[in-house]
Amino acid sequence: MSQIASDAANVVIDRTARYPEAPPSPTEEYSDATAKRANRTSTNSVETTRTALGRTLQLHRFSTSMEKGVSLERALEIANRISMERDSETLTLDQATGRVLFEDLSSLVDDPRFDNSAMDGWAVREADCQETGVVLRIVGTSQAGSAEAPPVGVGEACSIMTGAPIPEGADAIVMIEDSTTHDGSVTINGPARPGFIRRRGENLTQGEQPLKSGNILTPSAISLAATMGHDRVSVVRQPSIAVIGVGDELTPPGEPLSENSIYESNTFGISSLVKKMGGIPRRSELIRDSIDDLRGALDEAAESCDAIITSGGVSMGQWDIVRQIMEQEGDIRFWRIMMRPGGPPLFGSWKGKPLFGLPGNPVSSHVVFTVLVAPWMSKSMGTGEANGPSLANRVRVTMQEPLKGAPGKLCMRRISIKQEGDKLVASTSTHQGSGNIHSMVAHNGLSLLPPDTSCEKGDTIDALWLF
Ligand code: AMP
Ligand code: MG
Repeated sequence: MSQIASDAANVVIDRTARYPEAPPSPTEEYSDATAKRANRTSTNSVETTRTALGRTLQLHRFSTSMEKGVSLERALEIANRISMERDSETLTLDQATGRVLFEDLSSLVDDPRFDNSAMDGWAVREADCQETGVVLRIVGTSQAGSAEAPPVGVGEACSIMTGAPIPEGADAIVMIEDSTTHDGSVTINGPARPGFIRRRGENLTQGEQPLKSGNILTPSAISLAATMGHDRVSVVRQPSIAVIGVGDELTPPGEPLSENSIYESNTFGISSLVKKMGGIPRRSELIRDSIDDLRGALDEAAESCDAIITSGGVSMGQWDIVRQIMEQEGDIRFWRIMMRPGGPPLFGSWKGKPLFGLPGNPVSSHVVFTVLVAPWMSKSMGTGEANGPSLANRVRVTMQEPLKGAPGKLCMRRISIKQEGDKLVASTSTHQGSGNIHSMVAHNGLSLLPPDTSCEKGDTIDALWLF
């Protein structure tokens, strides 16, 4: 019995440690929040006392499916199991650049629509042009977009423009450069080439679907959609993603700094990354290290957005309240990735919406976004890996200096990649600390050094080339 009583006492102490009281605030509003929190704590302690025999479970109330310290590949695998709702909207081609196609797009026409010339020159009968210097009678002109040209008979030629239909009877084209004209006739000085006729449907046939659901609408894809006859396309609606910054020390840029406060940067950087990936960021007010405020922000985000990204508060510390609230009230699927920088992130869901808890260190949050959130967004928006929006290309680079790896962790040091001769080379500059966002600006790549692996000058390694 005394064992249970002391267990219960431990439980209460432990819970208090993981639900730290926020520092006193002068506002009325805060007093309300404090009162609510006090109620909550006491309810929790009663509950906990009743279940004291299950103390281990209570102390580590992670979701049963939560994994700890996973590889990046595993983290992606787990995250990819939860996706955002994917629905569509219709846009004009002018609005659709960079968007993701929602459904396969069929061609409304053959391309080319009719046999036409690939060159400015003469439509002729190949059999008439076996020798240089043959003279042919000019029967007329075939111009792109104009009425039908006269047929070409034996010993005849029809002047033809690029893209114009091949007149009946002609089966080859002579380039204008290979001819000289006189009154009503043309001397052929070069070859007559059937290969300069672009055949009907040789690019696409009507009903063919060269653009697939998940293709990103690059400028060429936009052009192709227009070629196929579409003035509008159905695209994936841009996901709206809540971006929530957490930390007592943070002050929005542009506002006066109090002692020991710093300018908040992550919500701006993460929002920018969300935009780059084709999402719509919703930056919330900064959240102090208060569980109640955080809960309110998460609830609001879950109501109004497709996914949630938080910054800060996911490590081991007493004030790491994102981790704490997710443990207690959310659903965590994994916590911590074996990578450096960016080890502490978590992933799970809050009220049914996918949630990424990114670390507070600015470099860490950018790196985790790049290697985890970006591919997840891409997949969740329904794109194939090769076709979706992304933030980096995987390349092989030759290091111009030694690079130190990390024990047990994938090591992503900031590197500058450039072309030198026939290969890509890489070097480093600036301090590599995970708090130094300048290192992400001064470099354009990340090393992908496997766990426990360092490299020497001249070694070739995998890297991500950021764009
Ligand atoms: P945390 O993950 O909350 O422990 O924060 C780790 C480090 O990142 C601390 O030095 C924080 O001050 C810093 N940090 C946290 N959030 C932000 C943010 N939104 N903008 C800039 N720095 C931050
Ligand atoms: Mg913090």
